Amino acid sequence: MTSTKQYNAFEAILLNNNHIRQVVIVGGTHGNERIGLYLVKKFNQDSSLLFRPNLTTTCLIGNPQACKENRRYIDTDLNRCFIKADLDNQLLGRHEERQAKVLHQQLGPKGNSDNFLLDLHSTTANMGLTLILVNDHPFNLHLAAYLTHHNPQVRVYRWTQGNQENAFVSSLCQLGFAIEVGPIPQGILLASLFQETETLIHQTLDYLEQINRDVSLPLPRTLPLFQHLDVVDFPKTSSGELAGMVHPQLQGKDYQPLNPGDPIFLTFEGQTLFYEGCSTVWPIFINEAAYYEKDIAMCLTHKQDISLKWN
Ligand SMILES: [Zn+2]
Repeated sequence: MTSTKQYNAFEAILLNNNHIRQVVIVGGTHGNERIGLYLVKKFNQDSSLLFRPNLTTTCLIGNPQACKENRRYIDTDLNRCFIKADLDNQLLGRHEERQAKVLHQQLGPKGNSDNFLLDLHSTTANMGLTLILVNDHPFNLHLAAYLTHHNPQVRVYRWTQGNQENAFVSSLCQLGFAIEVGPIPQGILLASLFQETETLIHQTLDYLEQINRDVSLPLPRTLPLFQHLDVVDFPKTSSGELAGMVHPQLQGKDYQPLNPGDPIFLTFEGQTLFYEGCSTVWPIFINEAAYYEKDIAMCLTHKQDISLKWN
């Protein structure tokens, strides 16, 4: 897969000589994902919790109205509203389209912001702690390598699709990523995942603080990464009705290899449908509740090791 933008070594060096001053943590981009929302509320009640001497961190709620109503969104998915042309289009006036413009004003301009952005999400799929990268910036890859090295539970998913522009909140800033944690049902809190997400945020801030102090960190030379390939839709009848479910043998098996010929769906009549691809893939977001409206049953990824150059 090609990336949305190629960064050369020079840019990487340049960035490593610069410092991160402003970190923004967004929770509640999706109003029924409570972990991010309540972490932001906690941090906003006591700003000393995130204090680092060489870093300023602010927290905000992505979609306050949706959070109030404990719904993913009011009119449309906020995390698909950050295409540049849409942000500039004043005719787009649905609730989330307006909220995206507000966030863009605060955190942007898109692609040219110095902020480091963390966008907090949760999933009903069995994805553990996942960093979702939306570009190939070396700074993000290095930080991801640091986090996977210090926290073996962390996996890295890169959602880039050729030159296609990314529409996520996290695409507002080149530096940073989304954190996706699960499994957790929509609308509830889980103490274990809440604490694990909080730890991951602290580990991220610790890394940024070290960078700002010009401390060189011992880091791995490769980063294991799951590269987005495609999405798989649910099977449908000829009239467009849902025809089956995720196969019980695949349920909860996020990040595990799926080979050609392995079971993937079970129809309501009890017939097993098999994966018909020609090579092994690693599915994630398996049976994610929020993707039913998009007809998406899972995303497929390719597992790869990225070589890292350290200065
Ligand atoms: Zn989300």
